[in-house]
Amino acid sequence: MKLLDGKLIADQIKTEIAREVKEMYLDKGLNPPHLAAVLVGEDPASMTYVASKERSCREVGFISSIYRYPSNITEEKLLEVIDFLNADPEIDGFIVQVPLPKHISEQRIIERIDFRKDVDGFHPVNIGKMVLNLPCFLPATPMGIITLLDRYNIEVEGRNCVVLGRSHNVGTPVSILLSRKAKPGNGTVTLCHSFTKDIKSVSSSADILVVAMGKLGFVTADMVKQGAVVVDVGIHRVPSLETKSGFKLKGDVRFDEVAGKCSYITPVPGGVGLMTIVSLLQNTLKAAKKEVF
Ligand code: NAP
Repeated sequence: MKLLDGKLIADQIKTEIAREVKEMYLDKGLNPPHLAAVLVGEDPASMTYVASKERSCREVGFISSIYRYPSNITEEKLLEVIDFLNADPEIDGFIVQVPLPKHISEQRIIERIDFRKDVDGFHPVNIGKMVLNLPCFLPATPMGIITLLDRYNIEVEGRNCVVLGRSHNVGTPVSILLSRKAKPGNGTVTLCHSFTKDIKSVSSSADILVVAMGKLGFVTADMVKQGAVVVDVGIHRVPSLETKSGFKLKGDVRFDEVAGKCSYITPVPGGVGLMTIVSLLQNTLKAAKKEVF
């Protein structure tokens, strides 16, 4: 079994981005790419994600800014913030951290983002272009998964791929990226969800199994084929007395029992999560270079 080491690959890509930022912007006295994040409320996981995005921006030489608002901000006010960020020529790309408070429609907010600045790749224009295999910003987590497979030279073409979970942010776009006519791609994909009958018989046929269900430890050894590649997207905070923070991160896959059957597997933490952030950086660099739109 080999680890699909998200930290190793994310560090490599960050080094590549930092070099490009230095040569293309800093050495020429130009402003580097600027990624902004909108953070509403004080959800601890969201605050952690945004802080780590800011840290990653600093590492590669980007400008990073955070627009913070209380959880009682109105939808109208938040739409005005989006309009402001869309119009600001100094900002190359921005994200709105989800989940948003219940009184705000995430869909309305996402649709208001200028798709040319939508570095999270959530806007319907970017999703549609992804399906059509046209230049676009790919959603960050699915893009990170594909990049990880690619950097480890894992062949997708012609292989049975099973994706567990069909969320708009992860499962559905992963299924499209694995199956579309591209490299990496050309896989034969089955997408499973809560209406799927006998998940075990489907998952155990997978050469490549991507799990994005949000169910702690759902995937057990008997659900995985010998020699499969397993990508675990799930992130769960599990209380622990062994860590200073008081919790440990675990995935949707029972790593200890599944790893022995895999040819490759992502750890949690240290797998997909770090690739998500680096994909956001890659998209922001493309936005700054006007490489996509
Ligand atoms: P989500 O929106 O909650 O979607 C979960 C999906 O799993 C749904 O499609 C659901 O089916 C399916 N599902 C749930 N329980 C099932 C069951 N018992 N049998 C079959 N299907 C089941 O989840 P998400 O946003 O994709 O997130 C999934 C996990 O990934 C979470 O732990 C999240 O924290 C993590 N995540 C990690 C990253 C990262 O960067 N590493 C990024 C995003 C999310 P239905 O559609 O039928 O309800």
